[in-house]
Amino acid sequence: MPRPILATVHTGALRHNLERMRRAAPDARVWAVVKANAYGHGIERVFEGLRAADGFALLDLAEAERVRALGWRGPVLLLEGVFEPRDLELCSRLGLWHTVHCDEQIDMLAAHKTQQPHRVFLKMNSGMNRLGFAPQRLRTAWARLGALPQVDEISFMTHFSDADGARGIDHQWIAFEDATADLPGERSLCNSAALLRHAGRPRVRADWVRPGIALYGSAPDFPEHDAAHWQLQSAMTLATRVIGVQQLDAGASVGYGSRFVAEAPMRVGVAACGYADGYPRHCDTGTPVLVNGMRTRLLGRVSMDMVGIDLTPVPDAGFGAEVTLWGRAANGAVLPIDEVAQAAGTLGYELMCAVAPRVAFAVD
Ligand SMILES: *Cc1c(COP(=O)(O)O)cnc(C)c1O
Repeated sequence: MPRPILATVHTGALRHNLERMRRAAPDARVWAVVKANAYGHGIERVFEGLRAADGFALLDLAEAERVRALGWRGPVLLLEGVFEPRDLELCSRLGLWHTVHCDEQIDMLAAHKTQQPHRVFLKMNSGMNRLGFAPQRLRTAWARLGALPQVDEISFMTHFSDADGARGIDHQWIAFEDATADLPGERSLCNSAALLRHAGRPRVRADWVRPGIALYGSAPDFPEHDAAHWQLQSAMTLATRVIGVQQLDAGASVGYGSRFVAEAPMRVGVAACGYADGYPRHCDTGTPVLVNGMRTRLLGRVSMDMVGIDLTPVPDAGFGAEVTLWGRAANGAVLPIDEVAQAAGTLGYELMCAVAPRVAFAVD
């Protein structure tokens, strides 16, 4: 019998969240962003739930091959473009669209031998200062690309640094609008946060939107808004069971470092989940958790393979009780991954990407 920890991917939730993103941009096409193995869910496991997307966006060429291996014939976009010349051979062979964000990538394209010209997304750096051409260099890059027989249609994209926060997108959006104003081609600007918070304007929604995190049911601007506010459903449940119970006297402690000390007699459940499963060690006493669908809290330090849980609110729960680390319990109660991430000082993104290889997955 394997350890009872299990991650479940919810196909219905993915479908719902994709539909929700479509409603936010009914006139745009939707790239489902499935980089990082679909944010830790597994590309093959999310494919059914996301197949109503207009395309899949990712950045690892091996992942692009996996999307094609699933039989997907629609668009696939490499968000970082190619890394070396031979990547272009794969683009030609698999019909991948790719981002062009620097001169070196144009050089590679110019030297590439292909029968099929490539569809490219020319990326502008509108202020995030990660990838992309500066506004004043965009036109030259566009002209260079346009002169290449290896290049088919040229589209434009940029990426926002503050779509989830107070600064917002206007400074970047205006820079992008100014630099691309008279250039023909489709445009793509919005990640999840921009789509949910700033896409009232058709020119921000543009031709393609690129939601990632929202598809998986995490609110991009938590705690300002939670997943329920945005009508998003958890696409992953991480669940395990109680494998031991301890009765504590007042003054007794739990776990390494005796970080939690009982003030009164109480019951502690020990659940089969630890940091070697990807559950963050930064979670400490007070982190929310569900037992039999009832909300309670972690006690003490997270160990490699186990964690202590306060059973006070669930007096009936004992050996074998259902423990939901995040996601949906059997009784329908939901613990948003964002709340657990906040307790660990991080984001839902990091938690879902970090589920460890030793955790078995199921799809429902
Ligand atoms: C990851 C990524 C996205 C998706 O971002 P979310 O915040 O997960 O919605 C969109 N565009 C680019 C270029 C990305 O790298």
